[in-house]
Amino acid sequence: MTTMQRQRDGSEETFDSRDPATDDVVGTYPVHTTEDVAESVERARRAADWWSALGYQQRAERLRLWKGIVTRRLDQLCEIVHAETGKPHSDAQLEITLAIEHLAWAAKNAKKILGAHRRPAGNLMANQAASVEHHPLGVVGVIGPWNYPVYTPLGSITYALAAGNAVVFKPSEFTPGVGKWLVDTFAEAVPEYPVLQLVTGYGDTGAALTRSGVDKIAFTGSTETGKKIMATAAENLTPVVIEAGGKDAMLVDADADLEAAADATVWGACSNAGQTCIGVERVYVHERVYDDFVSRVVDKSNGVRGGSDSDAEYGPMTMRSQLDVIRGHISDALARGGRAVVGGRDAVQEREVQPTVLVDVPEDSAAVQEETFGPTVTIARVPDMDEGVRRANNSRYGLGSTVFAKRRGMELARRLRTGQTAINAPLSFAGIASLPFGGVGDSGFGRIHGPEGLREFSRPKAIARQRFPMPVALTSFARSEKTDTLLAKFITILHGNR
Ligand code: NDP
Repeated sequence: MTTMQRQRDGSEETFDSRDPATDDVVGTYPVHTTEDVAESVERARRAADWWSALGYQQRAERLRLWKGIVTRRLDQLCEIVHAETGKPHSDAQLEITLAIEHLAWAAKNAKKILGAHRRPAGNLMANQAASVEHHPLGVVGVIGPWNYPVYTPLGSITYALAAGNAVVFKPSEFTPGVGKWLVDTFAEAVPEYPVLQLVTGYGDTGAALTRSGVDKIAFTGSTETGKKIMATAAENLTPVVIEAGGKDAMLVDADADLEAAADATVWGACSNAGQTCIGVERVYVHERVYDDFVSRVVDKSNGVRGGSDSDAEYGPMTMRSQLDVIRGHISDALARGGRAVVGGRDAVQEREVQPTVLVDVPEDSAAVQEETFGPTVTIARVPDMDEGVRRANNSRYGLGSTVFAKRRGMELARRLRTGQTAINAPLSFAGIASLPFGGVGDSGFGRIHGPEGLREFSRPKAIARQRFPMPVALTSFARSEKTDTLLAKFITILHGNR
């Protein structure tokens, strides 16, 4: 977490990052001004030219070097993530492990995905050789969140770097130390130019980066901030990728493995104290198995506890203000006829929130409609899975989703209006580097990860090379009436069939 006190250190304003379990100061960082950000972007432009000219092979080699450093110093990074977010060491390790997988994949596959590919030239242009290749955009600004301060920003940073861009990274004010560690270790692998730079501060620093003329902004955070970023980016027609919040649903069909589905519900809802954009926040269960499922979720939730000691399954809330949001959602649900079968109002403590499972909650209440971002989940009974799909899709968000079913798993997954769906395992898509990740509706747009993520940080360059002149010139004022007649006949033969 961060302190909200601002300090003056000479002429430079600073802020403190604090441990959410103790409020101890973990580190002090500069509040970078608009001028500071502009200088970083200027330096990044020169770095981008050099980095792009290195080519795929050498960039991959440097990214592999960085990967080795991050992997060998995993413990060190886990400690910083733990100190700034409060998440247990083992969760930090899982997060970083997944990020390393993405780094490896992006480095290995950039050339194959972005390098030149031939395209068919078509009958009319049979004399041309057509190809497309993807060029880097230049400088990418990455604005990251605090909930997964390694995995989430690296989902943009590593793909942008592998595509040949320089990056200016603004981590959340809650996790500047993690950001600094990532940038410093990258500089060990790439000491020549500041290809990956850090700017720190509050929302204003992020806004300055958005306005700085970078070639793309990749943002992860709340939908509200995403809208502000889009409006600011519009001033320079800067393209954006928005990975905003979610209200992810899980469907549990009558033939599902209930034990696995209950386990996935509790872990999907409570891990990282529920501060997961693709966390499970709503569950729709076939009425034939509803009672059995709920009792399994209750049993499993009772064995899970949030706390700052080493035995706790998850840590304190990273951002203290989130406690009010969670309390508000639980209170609203209970006031409107919902029941807490685990936890409840008292589950919201001074720093932690204990697991809370809500049933009989009206569909239009905040606990079902708004992102709670806490270790809470609502469970609802549905007469069939068609109704489950209808209710799951009745959301302004559409990030991830989960289906537990034997027979209809693929069919139900396809019908869910979300960017990604996991079948019979929670959040599995997030660990598969070749799969794109992104949202629908208020969850944002654009894709990180996989081939789509590499393309997101590059621009397609189409090239048509004439191999030999056509006997009849189409694109010339020398075109004759005879040519026009021939062309009309030709196009009728090609496309005139009913
Ligand atoms: P924000 O959306 O406010 O912050 C995300 C990032 O954007 C941070 O780096 C933040 O900087 C930066 N930022 C804030 N304002 C601006 C701006 N005007 N221009 C550019 N950058 C800006 O999220 P919060 O951290 O405040 O969390 C609030 C809620 O957002 C959570 O309760 C949760 O619902 C949702 N959220 C969703 C996440 C996800 O993974 N989808 C991640 C984080 C939050 P700074 O931190 O310095 O203010």
